[in-house]
Amino acid sequence: MTTVKAYGATAPDSGVHPLNIERRALRDTDVAISIDYCGVCHSDLHTVENDWGGTTYPIVPGHEIVGTVTAIGPNVTKYKVGDRVGVGCLVDSCGHCGACEHDEEQFCAEGLHGTYGGVDRLDGTPNHGGYSEAIVVKESFVLSIPDNLDPAAAAPILCAGITTYSPLKHVGVKKGDKVGVLGMGGLGHMGVKFAKAMGAEVTIFTRSVSKVDEAISQGADHVIISTDESQMAAASEQFDYLLDTIPVEHDFNPYLNCLKYNGVHIVVGQLTPLEPALNTAALVLKRRSVMGSLIGGLAETQEVLDFCAKHDITCDIEMLDMQDINAAYERMKKGDVKYRFVIDMATLKAS
Ligand code: NDP
Repeated sequence: MTTVKAYGATAPDSGVHPLNIERRALRDTDVAISIDYCGVCHSDLHTVENDWGGTTYPIVPGHEIVGTVTAIGPNVTKYKVGDRVGVGCLVDSCGHCGACEHDEEQFCAEGLHGTYGGVDRLDGTPNHGGYSEAIVVKESFVLSIPDNLDPAAAAPILCAGITTYSPLKHVGVKKGDKVGVLGMGGLGHMGVKFAKAMGAEVTIFTRSVSKVDEAISQGADHVIISTDESQMAAASEQFDYLLDTIPVEHDFNPYLNCLKYNGVHIVVGQLTPLEPALNTAALVLKRRSVMGSLIGGLAETQEVLDFCAKHDITCDIEMLDMQDINAAYERMKKGDVKYRFVIDMATLKAS
C-alpha cells in the first residue's frame, strides 16, 4: 500500500479538504498512474453533498483522470511506464453478465463499480477518485489518451464526453436531424460538439443570455432562452432529439412539446423523481419517448477519445488549483463555469 495526498469530503457540509488515502499494492494486471489532471463533474458535487443519498464518507471524488503510467503489474500488456493514460467513471465490472459481454460495463448486473463511492470488488476497500496524486487501476479499465489531444482538455471526455456521445450514437443522430441540448455546462457543451460532428442541426436551450455568443461560436446553430415563453412556444414540435443535461429537478413538459412526433427526450442530468408530473398525453399523442442514459462502457469511452482526436474535439476548460475546489463548486452551482473545471494536480503534489 502507498499513502498519497488527496482532497475529499467527510460529511455533506464539510466541503472538500486535504486527506491522506491508501492506494493498493500492484496486482498482476494493475497499472499505477501519477495523476496530472482531473476534471470536475457536477456528479462530484452531487456526491459530496449527498444529493442522491447513499454517499459513504470520507469520499474522494474525481472520475475524469488523465495521468502518466509509473508502474505496471507483471501481466500488463497494453501499457508501459511513461504512457499517457486516462481513467473515467468505471474501475471494474463482473466481466461475464450480459451487459459486460456487450461492452456496457456501466450496466453490470453486479452494479456499477465506480471510480469513487463504491468498494473494490476483491478486497472491499473504498474506491477513491482522482482528486489525488496517484491511482492504481486494473489494466482493462485504463484508456489510451491520443497524442494529439491536449491532456488537460481531454480529461472531461472521460465523463462529460462519453455521457453525451453515447446516447447520441445510441439513438442514431445523423445528418439533418434537429437536436436540442438542454443546459450549457460541462456535458451540454460537449453534446453540442458531438451532435454537430454527427451532422445534426443543433440548438442550445439555456437560461443564460451570457452564453448565447459562445454557444454559437462552439458550433450551435441556434440558441433558445428557455425562460422566454415566446421562444419556447416557437420551438414547438421542432426537434428529433433533446439531450437534457440539467442537473436539478425541472419541468419536462415544456420541452416535450418541442419534440416532433417520434421524438426522444434523452435524460442524463436529473436523477430524481419528476416534479411537476409528466403529462403523458404529450407522449401518447405524438409517440414521443423519454429515455435515460448512463456514461458509457470502456470500449465506447476509447471510441469517443478516438472520435475526438479525429474530429479535433476537446473540452473548453478553466484550469483550477486543487486548493480552490470549494470556490469552484460554488460557481458550478450557479452555472458559472466555462465549461469544465480541470484540476492541475501539480498544485496538490506541490502542497
Ligand atoms: P454543469 O454544472 O457543468 O452544467 C449544468 C448546466 O445546466 C448549467 O451550466 C446550466 O446551464 C444548467 N442548469 C443548472 N442549473 C439549472 C437549473 N436550476 N435550471 C435549468 N438549468 C440549469 O453540470 P454537468 O454538465 O457536469 O452535469 C450535468 C448533470 O449530468 C449533473 O446532474 C451530473 O450529475 C449529471 N451526469 C450524468 C451522467 C450520466 O451518466 N447520466 C454522467 C455525468 C454527469 P445554462 O446556464 O445553460 O442554463
